[in-house]
Amino acid sequence: MDIHSINKQELTEIIEKNKLNPSEELLSAARSVRNKYYGNRIFVRGLIEFTNYCKNNCFYCGIRAGNKNARRYRLTEEEIMQCCDEGNRLGFNTFVLQGGEDGYFTDEKICGIVSRIKSKYPDCAVTLSIGEKTRESYKAYRDAGADRYLLRHETANNGHYKRLHPKEMLLENRKQCLYTLRELGFQVGAGFMVGSPYQTSEMLAEDLIFLRELQPHMVGIGPFIPHCDSIFADRQAGTLQLTLTMLALVRLTLPKTLLPSTTALGTIDPEGREKGFDAGANVVMPNLSPTSVRGDYALYNDKICTGDESAQCVKCLRGRIERAGYVMDMGRGDSLTI
Ligand code: SF4
Repeated sequence: MDIHSINKQELTEIIEKNKLNPSEELLSAARSVRNKYYGNRIFVRGLIEFTNYCKNNCFYCGIRAGNKNARRYRLTEEEIMQCCDEGNRLGFNTFVLQGGEDGYFTDEKICGIVSRIKSKYPDCAVTLSIGEKTRESYKAYRDAGADRYLLRHETANNGHYKRLHPKEMLLENRKQCLYTLRELGFQVGAGFMVGSPYQTSEMLAEDLIFLRELQPHMVGIGPFIPHCDSIFADRQAGTLQLTLTMLALVRLTLPKTLLPSTTALGTIDPEGREKGFDAGANVVMPNLSPTSVRGDYALYNDKICTGDESAQCVKCLRGRIERAGYVMDMGRGDSLTI
């Protein structure tokens, strides 16, 4: 199947055909492509969720500004450094600083934290995931030493984007941010929810076409899972089968991209992450945040691994990866995408 030249209609048909039960042909094609470029290694990133304050109100999110039930927290710079120290002790070479769009963390503060991590751990990659910012802000982060930036586009269809976000949030702006980040030399991660409210197979095909155009270095996709305090509290979660179908199709669309098997996938199915590897994924992102705040970074309900110490998480993940027939790689794991 040459997925690179097929159109939206044909992609939609493939998604429709596989969405309830991804075919072995599709999954094994995705595995072969992943193995061709990355072998059977699964890269590990240390995730530090450093603030759950956010000025936005995305309808699907448990930490949106309008949720008065969320218990808010911010880590101090010292606490963030302690997470990195613990990560370094455990062998991590990538730190992902993720948070809501929190005005408390000014560009100056973010740049200060990034430079401090990079001077203490110069061989490590620093990834930021802190939302939509201006070109100037992104440039400042890059100059401070940040290597990568994750910004999920969530859906590439404008009408769908409007049904998932308040009117002040614009898909056009989000896409522009992704192109700007790429231009500034970041390794860029886009991504989307699978099974979100109002989503159709045709919209998922549009996501693949957008990714084909953007050529991101990473793609984070996971099932939509409702949060009890979000606008979509009573919606159905996305399914394992459709998520595996989309993981495999992303892998075939972007052979050299880095593709996480997400915590959300592990939340909807106890073997979800292992099944993700078998659909072409090759990254996991265990949590390095202090256990005292992990449960409060609740984008969705029933998130797994909120209670275990980081060392415990790494041990558990290594076991899972090896039992599934893969090798855990704690190196920087840069993307082969140019
Ligand atoms: S999805 Fe992100 S930007 Fe939207 S409300 Fe949640 S944390 Fe904020």
